[in-house]
Amino acid sequence: MKKILLILLLSLFVAGCSGEDLHYIDPVDTTAGGNVTDSEVAEWIPIPGGVTADGLSGMNGRFIETKNAFVFCDNRGTVRTAYISKATGTVSPLCDDPLCSHPDDGVDDMCAVVGNLFTFSTLCYSPDSGRLYFVRPYRLFGMGNDMFLVLYSVDIDKMDLTVKEHHRFAVGVRLETMQYSDGKLYFTYCDMDDEGNEILKLDAYDIKSDKVENITFFEDAGTYFTVIGDSIYYSDKSLYALNRYGITDGKTEELIPGKPRQQYIVTEDKIYLRDTTSVLVIDTATGDRSELAVYEENTYSRAAATADGDVYYTLPYLSQIGDFKGGKLYVCGNGESRVYYDFGDDAYINMISAYGDNVFVEVEINDKMQFARLTEAGDKVACYFFPTL
Ligand SMILES: [Zn+2]
Repeated sequence: MKKILLILLLSLFVAGCSGEDLHYIDPVDTTAGGNVTDSEVAEWIPIPGGVTADGLSGMNGRFIETKNAFVFCDNRGTVRTAYISKATGTVSPLCDDPLCSHPDDGVDDMCAVVGNLFTFSTLCYSPDSGRLYFVRPYRLFGMGNDMFLVLYSVDIDKMDLTVKEHHRFAVGVRLETMQYSDGKLYFTYCDMDDEGNEILKLDAYDIKSDKVENITFFEDAGTYFTVIGDSIYYSDKSLYALNRYGITDGKTEELIPGKPRQQYIVTEDKIYLRDTTSVLVIDTATGDRSELAVYEENTYSRAAATADGDVYYTLPYLSQIGDFKGGKLYVCGNGESRVYYDFGDDAYINMISAYGDNVFVEVEINDKMQFARLTEAGDKVACYFFPTL
């Protein structure tokens, strides 16, 4: 079902792509709106570094941190890949050529600003090469809806936005998500086992050798994973347990037993476990557990953690017309939990990425999708809404 929906969405995206002109807007001019007061609308300040991992929280954080920038896909209308400069805080499309027509149809004629659903879910960064990797699909002429995906990269650290092609995936392979670790790009895609059951395969693409190898597979197509060194941490939507798969020894162990609606964020040294009533932090070396936050039972949420151990999360409620509402963003850390920012009752926070003092959210306010950056400014939290690129 998920696969069918993805294909359907993709068809819509492909059909909706056109040569729309890009125009650069300074974000300082577009910060009015929402709950922002005049005193909170200020010049963007240089952004300090940080780390996050949102791999198992149900959706990849769409803001990727690189050495000099935060990169994201703006999916409001035509999908555009853009970056926020850490030095200046400005938002710019990932193509700085004023003469470029941003072609979206040629496999050899590529522009990094053009994206779609696949780009969105595969965007990742290698600190080793300083490159940003992403995927785009191409239709095969005369073969119905068949298409193949192509892996590209740009040198994001040097801001050389020339697109380099790396690999063409086999026809029919539709990547669900992609992550970088130690020179390899790990990706999942739906496939069939020998008995015709749908499975989720996890393969790795070796950037140096241009070879793809299968690592493992998951029975549940709704499985999320995080790669850290030799370990693949994964959890699926039907069992909610957290498991670890060793790439070298091929062994699987269950780290946390399943319980409905559990979500995880796995970082180098911690596992954050969120269930319906609390957020627990587990030290992976010692197994020590401590409670970060406790709250009344609530509905499905998003969460992101920073390297400092702060966890940002939402607790939306189900409205009378059946959709999730509630734009409160909470933060817990250092033994306390509090409202960090409130977008109002008619808002729904769809995605959170957090790096140090910078929290990025995708928030629907009165059914309009917005991207915002939240950061502490004195004793207030300032909110900056992004321009449409
Ligand atoms: Zn371009």
